[in-house]
Amino acid sequence: MANNEELFKKIISHAKEYGFVFSSSEIYDGLSAVYDYGQYGVELKNNIKDYWWKAMVRYHENIVGIDSAIFMHPTIWKASGHVDAFNDPMIDNKDSKKRYRADVLIEDHLAKIEDKIEKEVQKAAKRFGDSFNEEQYRTTSPKLLEYQQLIDDTKKRFFGSLENNDLEDVKKLIEDLGIVCPVSGTRNWTEVRQFNLMFSTQMGSLSEDTNLIYLRPETAQGIFVNFLNVQKSGRMKVPFGIAQIGKAFRNEIVARQFIFRMREFEQMEMQFFVRPGEELKWFEYWKQERLRWHLSLGIPATKYRFHDHEKLAHYANAATDIEFDFPIGFKELEGIHSRTDFDLSSHQKYSGKKLQYFDPELNEGYVPYVIETSIGLDRTFLAVLSNSFTEEVLADGSERVVMKIPPILAPIKAAVLPLVKKDGMPEKAREIMDTLKYDYLCQYDEKDAIGRRYRRQDAIGTPYCITVDTRTLEDNTVTIRERDTMKQDRIAIHEISGIISARIQTHYKPTPQ
Ligand code: ATP
Repeated sequence: MANNEELFKKIISHAKEYGFVFSSSEIYDGLSAVYDYGQYGVELKNNIKDYWWKAMVRYHENIVGIDSAIFMHPTIWKASGHVDAFNDPMIDNKDSKKRYRADVLIEDHLAKIEDKIEKEVQKAAKRFGDSFNEEQYRTTSPKLLEYQQLIDDTKKRFFGSLENNDLEDVKKLIEDLGIVCPVSGTRNWTEVRQFNLMFSTQMGSLSEDTNLIYLRPETAQGIFVNFLNVQKSGRMKVPFGIAQIGKAFRNEIVARQFIFRMREFEQMEMQFFVRPGEELKWFEYWKQERLRWHLSLGIPATKYRFHDHEKLAHYANAATDIEFDFPIGFKELEGIHSRTDFDLSSHQKYSGKKLQYFDPELNEGYVPYVIETSIGLDRTFLAVLSNSFTEEVLADGSERVVMKIPPILAPIKAAVLPLVKKDGMPEKAREIMDTLKYDYLCQYDEKDAIGRRYRRQDAIGTPYCITVDTRTLEDNTVTIRERDTMKQDRIAIHEISGIISARIQTHYKPTPQ
């Protein structure tokens, strides 16, 4: 754990030092849980968006995109349930004055008990050697059964209390479990209160109640309220999807995990409209499909896992998260939800407008059911960043930090470097730069010794360094150095573009529907 915290800190400082992510308003000491993306960060972010957008909108003929406004009619957030129920239970520690989400405190506590179970199993495996029957041990060891019972009872009690809005019991549960504040180490807790996560502001010059509007806490509602516009103007036939990438805002209670939990962030969401009764088939399709998309980036499969929801929202009939193994542990990266006809029906009710689809094959009209895939752009960025960060000791004893970013997402695709700043090499390198830069974002660099320039490119994840030397001037060949292996090959200048292009091909092709 300590190691991972150390790693997380290194990644955060690397992200700052190399122009990926800065704290917002840094010269004013920052703004809590708000971040700015720097010159390489914005490229990586745009490349992730592009990779998602193409996978969704270009490769699926029945998915189209939109870009809806951040401000929306306030009644939308009543219809969606956000005004009444987009709350997190919060609790403060009176000694440290730190604020926590009650559910997170409890979940973290349960995760520790789960860790204990795993440690017991590992210990027993060592003790019993080859004769160890893990399944039997897990189901019969009194100690493990006791731990498991505690986990199950706690979850049951917690979900029950939340459902009945019994916040007193949530506090009591925290006390009964003996949970202490990680900062002060005390159990001196305030009451648990519900806290609505939506930011609000006024529209127009009057500050009456009617002018109160919200900054959207998710992009999905912009899709639902445009469902009929898109269906009619695009002559879309069920099943079809609408995708959107955009900013969302949440006044998060606990925001201490870099870009994992921000108050202003970006989502990439897709709502897929299907016939009622067929939603679970489509849920399964999108669950597998989204995981395939993640894996197509070449990040090891062991870094991902599904977490099926035990407690479903009242409108959902299936839900799962794709979790990623961040340096802060396995955490949600993307949600896939079967939302039934809840959203469209609710908007129908609140707006008084019919939001139905006439199915020509069935010869009947209905409110479609919806499968949602919702992924955080910033969390994907963090997943890529933390998986890429590699510290290596080289054969000669020197060290390097290399960002092994999937080449298709790398901010800079190639660096063009004259070996020395004379003898016509800079001019030749400029010529190469001019032929490449219209197809790929490249960087020209002539400052410092070549080794240092290689290190700079490693640190920002550039897949290729192209070096112009004396031989280049004679026979139009260059050396091309590959980031991960550091292997250098001699190739003709006209081959460079093809090599880069081959490396950044997409490996994602959707499974036919
Ligand atoms: P969490 O349980 O972590 O608060 P959530 O279940 O509220 O997340 P959703 O409402 O399902 O999240 O939002 C979809 C996706 O948006 C999440 O999977 C996550 O990647 C991203 N996301 C949500 N909240 C934030 C945030 N505060 N900062 C960055 N990304 C976020």
